[in-house]
Amino acid sequence: MKNNNTKNTGARAKNSIPVHHIPLVAETSVITVSGLHKHFTAPGGDRLPVLENIDFTLREGEIVALLGRSGSGKSTLLRHVAGLLAPSSGTVHYRGRPVEGPNPGTAMLFQSFALMPWLTVQQNVELGLQARGVEPVARRERAVAAIDMVGLDGFENAYPKELSGGMRQRVGFARALVVEPDVLLMDEPFSALDVLTAQTLRNELLALLTHPESPTRTALLVTHSIEEAVQLADRILVLGTDPGTIQVELRVDLPRPRNRHTRGFEALVEDAYESLTGERAELPPTAGTHDPLRAATPLPQADVEQLTGLLEELDERGGEVELAVVSDALSYELDDLMPLVEAAELLGYARVETGKLRLSGTGRGFARADILTRKHLFAGAVLANVPLIATIRTLLMASDGGRLREQYVTDRLRASCPEHGSRQQLGTAITWGRYAELYEYDARDGVLLLPREDRGAGSQR
Ligand code: ADP
Ligand code: MG
Repeated sequence: MKNNNTKNTGARAKNSIPVHHIPLVAETSVITVSGLHKHFTAPGGDRLPVLENIDFTLREGEIVALLGRSGSGKSTLLRHVAGLLAPSSGTVHYRGRPVEGPNPGTAMLFQSFALMPWLTVQQNVELGLQARGVEPVARRERAVAAIDMVGLDGFENAYPKELSGGMRQRVGFARALVVEPDVLLMDEPFSALDVLTAQTLRNELLALLTHPESPTRTALLVTHSIEEAVQLADRILVLGTDPGTIQVELRVDLPRPRNRHTRGFEALVEDAYESLTGERAELPPTAGTHDPLRAATPLPQADVEQLTGLLEELDERGGEVELAVVSDALSYELDDLMPLVEAAELLGYARVETGKLRLSGTGRGFARADILTRKHLFAGAVLANVPLIATIRTLLMASDGGRLREQYVTDRLRASCPEHGSRQQLGTAITWGRYAELYEYDARDGVLLLPREDRGAGSQR
């Protein structure tokens, strides 16, 4: 594993101790992350905080999922556990020892499979062993056994391009597990696969990890899929975004094998869903700030076309549908649907109640209107419900020549509401405001403008 990781991430090269030389201390905590904080440095020298105050423990025999949206810092956190990134502050320990270079107790499984195309299945699987100094005969035997274990017997001499995506990820399993890592690290390992293949491989991976004789029984899984987390994990750590912090810990006390269509499973999916979407409810109020640009609630990153499609679908289905049904019908992962659902709720077009999405009267009106009426209705809805957009519009009306520098808005957003990610917030506000024809945007100059026909309403020039 080390070879791939090193190549891909520019890892710190340090001595790596073979896994069987690590003294096994009588302690159930395998990985301990304490007070971890990580920031990157932007090309201009700005600090980009990515992870803050991360504390968690991975215990022996546990499968823990790190669940969060794209950009919440999941991969970054995983790379710290793998010892491929050093924290800005805080520590990572593996069985009581500080991790100061590639973590010898871990192996990594990637979304992209990361196979060497010029090597056969057998050679790809042997790579990890080679890197750990296992001699050729033992290497061959162990690789053959691992290939057999993941169901690829007979494909030893095939090249990756001859294999389907599912088979390639099986090679990924074999390559990671052949070194018998103490802890398996997985970065969205199923997200490049079609739904059915992913489901099969999840179950197979679980069978491998929970097999009584498996040397690898502890795993950390990064995912943005709620269902995947509930399917596989004993505990779910929900990461919030900007910068990444652990918001909630959910314990999944469901017996295995888990059936997605049981009440207990669905209830947990709902809990996790709420933890992901309910971020804003748990944010400490920023007391005393009365900045007009203070975004009271973060704006979901929702595309207006897709939101419209969702509302139309909902209307066609009688105005009330289970979220899971909508996600199936539209072939959207539940997680991709979330920003749209949040946007619909924020604008008063729909509400989620006990797993069902229900269209409101205004939502129905919007869904059935023609395009121009929709824009008009949308403008009313955002002005009433999105203070950021209303404020931009007000500032534009009051400004000299109906112009406002984008930077001015981002700076004030950053100062008053750093936790929401000012660029993304403004990005959504720009898209929505443009669609509603409340303002225009010149990306080259970074300027917001009143539409021509409204300019007479502001100060003249
Ligand atoms: P996730 O895996 O949850 O999608 P990542 O850990 O990949 O999130 O990234 C979290 C944030 O950190 C993103 O905003 C990303 O742009 C930023 N980031 C990740 N790696 C670097 C890096 N090497 N330099 C600067 N920013 C980075
Ligand atoms: Mg990632």
